[in-house]
Amino acid sequence: MFSGLTAEGIGMPLRARLVIASYAGLYLLFSAVVLTVAGLMTTNIWISWALAAVLLVLAILLLDAFYPRVSLFIHSISRIPQNPGEKTIALTFDDGPVEPYTGQILDILDRFNVKASFFCIGANIQRYPAVAREIVRRGHTLGNHTQTHRSLLLADADSVARELGEAQKTIRQHCGFEARFFRCPKGYKSPIVARILRRKRLDLVAYGYPIWDVENPPAAELVERVLNRAVPGDIIVMHDGFPPGKSGERDSLVAALPVIIEGLLAKDLRPVSLDQALTARP
Ligand SMILES: [Zn+2]
Repeated sequence: MFSGLTAEGIGMPLRARLVIASYAGLYLLFSAVVLTVAGLMTTNIWISWALAAVLLVLAILLLDAFYPRVSLFIHSISRIPQNPGEKTIALTFDDGPVEPYTGQILDILDRFNVKASFFCIGANIQRYPAVAREIVRRGHTLGNHTQTHRSLLLADADSVARELGEAQKTIRQHCGFEARFFRCPKGYKSPIVARILRRKRLDLVAYGYPIWDVENPPAAELVERVLNRAVPGDIIVMHDGFPPGKSGERDSLVAALPVIIEGLLAKDLRPVSLDQALTARP
């Protein structure tokens, strides 16, 4: 049934959809098994109904935790508002700053005179403080992406507060301002993360869809993944760096980015930073 599709034709987004569909299928199967076992063990219908309710609540919590565009416990920004007569899109870069890639990306953005947003890891800012300051100096938005990029999914309130607070402090020390935007590592969140974000007055930023650049596909494929889907208001996530202790390269993205921006501009879609997009205009 897949005979006309090459591996490239199938592409990551479809693979990702299949992964999500299989997780959903597994959960349905798990629920069916639990309810069947409960049905065999007791004739009390209320126990089965109570179990079904628990499974439903758990499914909703899992959806909130893993799916960036669903956020039940705090408002999450997953699109940018559009002004009449102008179509805009937000390019966001996570996991930096890491050289030479962040510097190369900044130069590409300058060449097209467009602004973007960088969700930086505190530990990476400590390693490349001059690059972090350069992001701000060139007019881009710099957001908080935790201090060490540890997953916040199952973290307790103290750990979440420490990850967010230390990154805020790092940004303040090296860049001289209080970050306004936050993005969760891997997009995973929890009701605890929502509570701490509210307390720290940070705005949660999600994204419309990932383009799976971390796997370093050929540049042409990255270009296709963005330009085939991009519509006004999208927040696109890419990666200019790596979490502390990890390494690799971002040459595919650096090669693809100029073509991506040219393609967006040709569609009349102007890349803007989150500060530009979300600051109220008179
Ligand atoms: Zn990340």
